[in-house]
Amino acid sequence: MKTYNPNEFIAALKQHTNNRPIPPCPYCGGAEFTTTDSLASILIGKETNGIALGPFIPAGMVICQKCGHIEFFALGALGLVTNEDGNKNGEQK
Ligand SMILES: [Zn+2]
Repeated sequence: MKTYNPNEFIAALKQHTNNRPIPPCPYCGGAEFTTTDSLASILIGKETNGIALGPFIPAGMVICQKCGHIEFFALGALGLVTNEDGNKNGEQK
Protein backbone atom coordinates (compact mmCIF):
# COMPACT_ATOMS: atom_id res chain seq x y z
CA MET A 1 0.00 0.00 0.00
CA LYS A 2 1.21 3.45 -0.77
CA THR A 3 1.18 6.21 1.81
CA TYR A 4 -2.28 7.26 2.96
CA ASN A 5 -3.44 10.63 1.68
CA PRO A 6 -6.50 12.11 3.45
CA ASN A 7 -7.26 14.33 0.46
CA GLU A 8 -7.50 11.25 -1.78
CA PHE A 9 -9.75 9.62 0.84
CA ILE A 10 -12.17 12.56 0.91
CA ALA A 11 -12.18 12.79 -2.90
CA ALA A 12 -12.89 9.06 -3.23
CA LEU A 13 -15.58 9.22 -0.56
CA LYS A 14 -17.33 12.06 -2.40
CA GLN A 15 -17.08 10.14 -5.68
CA HIS A 16 -18.49 6.92 -4.20
CA THR A 17 -21.33 8.76 -2.43
CA ASN A 18 -22.26 10.74 -5.55
CA ASN A 19 -21.25 14.00 -3.84
CA ARG A 20 -24.04 13.63 -1.28
CA PRO A 21 -23.38 15.71 1.84
CA ILE A 22 -22.29 13.87 4.97
CA PRO A 23 -25.49 13.21 6.94
CA PRO A 24 -25.86 14.76 10.41
CA CYS A 25 -24.12 12.88 13.22
CA PRO A 26 -26.45 10.07 14.40
CA TYR A 27 -25.54 10.78 18.06
CA CYS A 28 -25.54 14.57 18.48
CA GLY A 29 -26.94 15.91 15.22
CA GLY A 30 -23.71 17.78 14.56
CA ALA A 31 -22.96 18.82 11.01
CA GLU A 32 -19.24 19.65 11.24
CA PHE A 33 -16.80 16.85 10.48
CA THR A 34 -13.08 16.35 10.15
CA THR A 35 -10.68 13.57 9.24
CA THR A 36 -7.15 12.59 10.20
CA ASP A 37 -3.73 12.57 8.53
CA SER A 38 -3.44 8.83 9.22
CA LEU A 39 -5.63 5.87 8.38
CA ALA A 40 -7.10 3.49 10.92
CA SER A 41 -6.13 -0.19 10.85
CA ILE A 42 -9.10 -2.20 12.07
CA LEU A 43 -7.79 -5.57 13.23
CA ILE A 44 -9.92 -8.53 12.22
CA GLY A 45 -9.79 -12.15 13.38
CA LYS A 46 -11.81 -15.10 14.64
CA GLU A 47 -10.52 -15.45 18.22
CA THR A 48 -12.71 -13.87 20.90
CA ASN A 49 -10.30 -14.12 23.80
CA GLY A 50 -7.51 -11.85 22.69
CA ILE A 51 -6.16 -9.40 20.19
CA ALA A 52 -3.60 -10.60 17.69
CA LEU A 53 -1.75 -8.57 15.13
CA GLY A 54 -2.79 -9.92 11.78
CA PRO A 55 -5.25 -9.13 9.03
CA PHE A 56 -6.76 -5.69 9.15
CA ILE A 57 -9.06 -3.37 7.25
CA PRO A 58 -7.42 -0.08 6.30
CA ALA A 59 -10.01 2.61 6.84
CA GLY A 60 -10.43 6.33 6.50
CA MET A 61 -12.28 8.19 9.22
CA VAL A 62 -14.92 10.91 9.32
CA ILE A 63 -15.10 12.38 12.82
CA CYS A 64 -17.90 14.51 14.29
CA GLN A 65 -16.31 17.69 15.64
CA LYS A 66 -19.03 18.14 18.28
CA CYS A 67 -19.15 14.71 19.97
CA GLY A 68 -16.23 12.79 18.48
CA HIS A 69 -18.31 10.00 16.93
CA ILE A 70 -16.17 8.24 14.32
CA GLU A 71 -17.37 6.70 11.06
CA PHE A 72 -15.02 4.28 9.28
CA PHE A 73 -14.84 3.72 5.53
CA ALA A 74 -12.94 0.76 4.08
CA LEU A 75 -10.31 2.16 1.76
CA GLY A 76 -10.47 -0.95 -0.43
CA ALA A 77 -14.09 -0.25 -1.29
CA LEU A 78 -13.09 3.28 -2.27
CA GLY A 79 -10.37 2.00 -4.62
CA LEU A 80 -7.51 3.29 -2.45
CA VAL A 81 -5.79 0.00 -1.57
CA THR A 82 -3.07 -1.06 -3.97
CA ASN A 83 -1.22 -4.36 -3.61
CA GLU A 84 2.48 -4.90 -4.29
CA ASP A 85 1.81 -5.47 -8.00
CA GLY A 86 0.09 -2.12 -8.24
CA ASN A 87 -3.36 -3.61 -8.70
CA LYS A 88 -6.21 -1.80 -7.04
CA ASN A 89 -7.87 -3.45 -4.05
CA GLY A 90 -5.58 -6.48 -4.15
CA GLU A 91 -7.13 -7.76 -7.37
CA GLN A 92 -5.06 -10.32 -9.22
CA LYS A 93 -4.84 -9.94 -12.98
ZN1 LIG B 1 -21.70 13.98 16.97
